Amino acid sequence: MLDAEREFLETENAAVHRGAHKLAAFATERFEDARETVASFIGAATDEVVWTPGATAAANLLAYAMGNARAGSRFALGPGDEIVATEAEHHANLIPWQELAARTGATFRYVPLDDRGALDLSRLDEVVTPRTRVLAFAHVSNVLGTVAPVAELVAAARRVGALVVLDACQSAPHLPMDVTSLDVDFLFFSAHKMLGPTGVGVLWGRRELLADLPPFLTGGSMITTVTMERAEFLAPPQRFEAGTQPVSQAIGLAAAIGYLSAIGMDRIAARERELGTEMVERLSAIDQVTVLGSDSGAPRTGIASFVVDGIHAHDVGQLLDDRGIAVRVGHHCAQPLHRRYGVTATTRASAYLYTTRDEIDRLVDGVRDAVAFFG
Ligand code: PLP
Repeated sequence: MLDAEREFLETENAAVHRGAHKLAAFATERFEDARETVASFIGAATDEVVWTPGATAAANLLAYAMGNARAGSRFALGPGDEIVATEAEHHANLIPWQELAARTGATFRYVPLDDRGALDLSRLDEVVTPRTRVLAFAHVSNVLGTVAPVAELVAAARRVGALVVLDACQSAPHLPMDVTSLDVDFLFFSAHKMLGPTGVGVLWGRRELLADLPPFLTGGSMITTVTMERAEFLAPPQRFEAGTQPVSQAIGLAAAIGYLSAIGMDRIAARERELGTEMVERLSAIDQVTVLGSDSGAPRTGIASFVVDGIHAHDVGQLLDDRGIAVRVGHHCAQPLHRRYGVTATTRASAYLYTTRDEIDRLVDGVRDAVAFFG
């Protein structure tokens, strides 16, 4: 990834979709090749892939673009319409929808979590109703590490004709991904969570939906004709890519995807499942430790977020850091989920394809020592 980005910046860098010179044409080709790499990684068509500055930007692009839809459009929302998310969401896939509801007069609702850390599907039909226009949920929770019941959620949305938006931030890096079999309408993720650079992410949407969606940001590079009165917009994906794009970062993401694909997403998913399960089992075996969602029964990835009785997550994190183990502490941008389980902060350990068993041993030893030290 570093080599690809450096080589581009040193020898091929130019503004894309603008200059008439050879370098600009070459840079544009590399940029569009990167789009194609992303498309084939998720089983999509190239013109369905929109570059964004990241997942948060993608969710906001979608929510604001829907908010810009004129009356009569399939995206137009108003009083009486409902937008549904889940109690497990990262704030990035929660607040844009709450705000869209507030701007349009629609009602925001959510699928609750049950006591075990799974989405409470027994409440699905009560929450997703003929009034529901959008159902937005995370494919994998960034706190619980569990995979959402996509088929059930999508079926509920399809029964009532709602659009499905999938936050794939924690799945695109970790699981094989195919938009056709997921059967969702929009999906987004960030490059920096999958060995790629910061500053770039992806919004995927079905071609026919993107074609009807008005732009969010307007300006350069997204128009065909502009007069002093009005502007005509380009077709997707350019309609959603106003201004100078994160070109080297897109090329970096394509290189990261090349690396992950060469290893194989199936192998990565299997390895993480093993490491994640081991981590959850061994941490749960410590008396004072509770791993959130450990008995939800849902398939898992390599994340374990846990509480240590009587010890603040920041103290656990500090002790682990002193041993060279980097964990995240706090609410992980998922305050409602933490509130649901009566905690304000957890310690989150994340395994990825480079994590070793020895590192899991060191994590478990570190948590045991934290219990002995602070307990
Ligand atoms: N959704 C999930 C599930 C995440 O884990 C994250 C990142 O933490 C985001 C959305 C937001 O991603 P970004 O901060 O890259 O925009």
